[in-house]
Amino acid sequence: MSYIEKEEEIIQFWKENRIFEKSVKYRSIKKPYVFYDGPPFATGLPHYGHILSFVTKDVFPRYWTMKNYRCERKWGWDCHGLPIESICERELKINQKNEICEMGLSKFNEFCRSKVLWYTNEWKTMVERMGKWIEFDSAYKTMDNSYMETVWFIFKKIYDEGYVYKGKKVLLYCPRCETPLSNSEISMDNSYKEITEKSIIAKFKLKDKSNTFLLAWSTTPWTLIGNVALAINSKLSYVKIKVDKEFLILAKSRLDIINENYKIVDEFKGAELVNKLYEPLYQVSAETEKLGHFIIDGGENVLSEEGTGIVHMAIYGEFDYEMINKYDMPIIQHIDEQGKLADGPKNWKGLWFKDVDKEVLKDLDSRNLSYLTEDYKHSYPFCYRCDTPLIYNALDAWFINIQKVKSTLLKTNKQIKWYPKEISKRYQYILESAPDWCISRNRFWATALPIWECVQCHAIKVVGSVKELQDLAIESVPDNLDLHRHVVDDLHLECFECGSIMNRIPEVFDCWFESGSMPYAAKHYPFENVDWFKHNFPSDFVSEYIGQVRAWFYYMHVISILMFGEIPFKNIVVNGNILAEDGTKMSKSKINFPDPSLIVGIYGADALRIYLLASQLMRAKDLNFKEDNVKQIYRRFNLLLFNVLKFYSLFEINNLSINNFKSENILDKWIINLVNNLTRDVTQRLDDYDTAEASKFIINFVEDLSTWYVKNSRNRFKSDILKEQLEAMNTLTYVLHNLSKILAPFTPFMAEMIYQKLRERKLVKCKSVHLDFWPVFDQSLSIPNLGDKMNLTKEIVQKSLELREKANIPLRQALKKITLKGVSLEGEFGEIVAKALNVKEVVIKNESVLKFTIDLDTEITKELKLEGIARTLIRNINNYRKKMKLSTINRINLYLNTENDEILEAISKYQNEIKKMVQADAIFKKIDNKNNIKTFKINQIEISTYLEKT
Ligand SMILES: [Zn+2]
Ligand SMILES: [Zn+2]
Repeated sequence: MSYIEKEEEIIQFWKENRIFEKSVKYRSIKKPYVFYDGPPFATGLPHYGHILSFVTKDVFPRYWTMKNYRCERKWGWDCHGLPIESICERELKINQKNEICEMGLSKFNEFCRSKVLWYTNEWKTMVERMGKWIEFDSAYKTMDNSYMETVWFIFKKIYDEGYVYKGKKVLLYCPRCETPLSNSEISMDNSYKEITEKSIIAKFKLKDKSNTFLLAWSTTPWTLIGNVALAINSKLSYVKIKVDKEFLILAKSRLDIINENYKIVDEFKGAELVNKLYEPLYQVSAETEKLGHFIIDGGENVLSEEGTGIVHMAIYGEFDYEMINKYDMPIIQHIDEQGKLADGPKNWKGLWFKDVDKEVLKDLDSRNLSYLTEDYKHSYPFCYRCDTPLIYNALDAWFINIQKVKSTLLKTNKQIKWYPKEISKRYQYILESAPDWCISRNRFWATALPIWECVQCHAIKVVGSVKELQDLAIESVPDNLDLHRHVVDDLHLECFECGSIMNRIPEVFDCWFESGSMPYAAKHYPFENVDWFKHNFPSDFVSEYIGQVRAWFYYMHVISILMFGEIPFKNIVVNGNILAEDGTKMSKSKINFPDPSLIVGIYGADALRIYLLASQLMRAKDLNFKEDNVKQIYRRFNLLLFNVLKFYSLFEINNLSINNFKSENILDKWIINLVNNLTRDVTQRLDDYDTAEASKFIINFVEDLSTWYVKNSRNRFKSDILKEQLEAMNTLTYVLHNLSKILAPFTPFMAEMIYQKLRERKLVKCKSVHLDFWPVFDQSLSIPNLGDKMNLTKEIVQKSLELREKANIPLRQALKKITLKGVSLEGEFGEIVAKALNVKEVVIKNESVLKFTIDLDTEITKELKLEGIARTLIRNINNYRKKMKLSTINRINLYLNTENDEILEAISKYQNEIKKMVQADAIFKKIDNKNNIKTFKINQIEISTYLEKT
């Protein structure tokens, strides 16, 4: 059975024996290790980022379970929000928001509901295949009535305590999706793109002054229609220049933009311009009487090194909006909610705002109000889901007042343990600069905001539960009320102030409010599970990729502080991003990465797991995914260990024990010391949530075990002396037993393969390694300096092997002696060197030299040559045996045919040893048979052989 098939077999074993369920159930409720799994969307297939999170979120629960904690794990699905709405719009061929209203909200929402869990089976397959353990089938969903009811409860509590307000805010807005986007939505997905557009320096004529113009720069010509003011910096120097017959005003420091001959006619501070009136470029119908069109002081926000030092102000910018509020200027929104011109020149009405740019440039040029237009390259935000250019827009919205809780957020951040540590600082900065949280969305498929407003007196009522709504609503309300818009919009209240009708406001929740409510809503707290909650909040551990620091982690933190004034999690592991091999973003259309299921199919889940866990991803750094590196891990780790296990399985011995590992052999002592140290080191690192370092310890250990311990102990495993064989086997049993437990969180399949072998031999009690306990470091097994001495031994062997290679003498050719100078090596280490190098004698001269030297005696005496021949013969015969698929219990008669005297002499001299090593009863120096003869060369001389099973 191949390694991959073994992994698949283990998945079945876990399922059939309900090992995961038992691993939770067998631990006490009173000793929980609390874990929150962030809910993903099921609207796409799982990618490497998800696989990384499966693995990270699996290691620590497994580890703490083995440390005797109860770690309940429940899957969740994020069901709401724009991603799913956008998929449904595409399928329903909807281009505009109002088409949704026309088709009917309930039809649209039910369509979303039907699509939202489309890929759950693919997710389940991948979760299982990667060995991630979680309650999957009973997953919570953010669209569950119970989930949404908790969201209502939380909102009402926050509202009642005065943290919620209704305001207008300038937000980046997608005119196609007709909804504002939050800061995190924009920064998370890299929405900014470099684009080149026409910019303009427009001329604004000063009122009551002929031929005098203020120059103002704009990269968005369409906004000039809604201009309400010009801003200058009162402390900056401005000049009035004469160009031909016209006078132009701009900042002195920006004179280099003037391409023609000019004469400075005046110089003055910006303060002198303040309150001067100018003529607007366009007339709009809205609130014209309030229109100032005067010059304001924008202070230091008006820069001296960009544009003209005079800034055009319209509603479409954060700074502009701040100024418009400060100077009480009117809000002119000349672009409608769908991004089309609603106010301004009549013949442009209905034009898409980006198309207005061209018209404005042409028009101002024809009216001699454009000083300059040129290409301008800048980064501009686009909608992450529909790729429409975003605009700033002032919108009615509901906010959570973050400023009110900011000091608590900052203070409690100090209680959170971030891994890696540096993230804490970054998070602190995010907190310090956090704006108020806009929690309303002008969309359809999400939990409805539970706010009812009176049509008459505009009184507000916030509802916090279905029960409350049953008490208040005019219509009758079922217990299992669906809290989506298309249902609750039909419910009305009677106004508690004036007795009139109250309607629900149209907005729904930002889906981050929903996912941030996960610790409570997943369990329908406080409507249910109040006792359970006492033991399961806050969580001990959460993990996500770095983009979630300002998203899910932040929103969970905010809600938890608002609810309880406490942090919702104690330890956070932050992952980096997985990029394609060339360092670019993984992209399905570019096909620049291998399909994850293919990788798992070739190298197995464990290889991918430990590749990710050992990487810098676990230090929140990005990683270029390289299939070649997975392959290397597969070879260096999985196959090496798999072969050690196969080797171990070869020997059937009675009286094995996992505890009887005391051996006098130095290699045994060394590997026991090493696995004991491994226990200590991995425990320390996992307690510190550092899988990268822990994984490296493990990979190195496996290499030591396979390429040093087993390799140099082979003969003892095959020894005729039972004591020697038992010592080696008991040592390896002890090592494999401990190793299987240490591996369990990292590579659960490999760990199980080893453990089941021990179980087969009745050496362990639990049904699965994952039900067993984490090993404990045993100080008494520690042997100081042993590791150093063995490392020196390894170094000597490695260098000597290089010498052998240079002299072109194969290892099976025994050599007389090796002389080491300047090194002290005790007898038993010398023996390892002698055996590993196949030399008869190790001579150590304790002369003091700077660096130790090795002198390999390469003279091959007659005696050594005969021995070499015998060894070559043994090796070839054993290969022959393997080809014939003979097992260790099969005995043979060996026939050979050669006339070479040296070979014949070697066979005579080493007859007994050859018989023993190839399990032959007899050796005949003649072959009668004609078939199945195998021929090979010894020292360039051909020899024919034939094996007969006896
Ligand atoms: Zn959009
Ligand atoms: Zn009222």
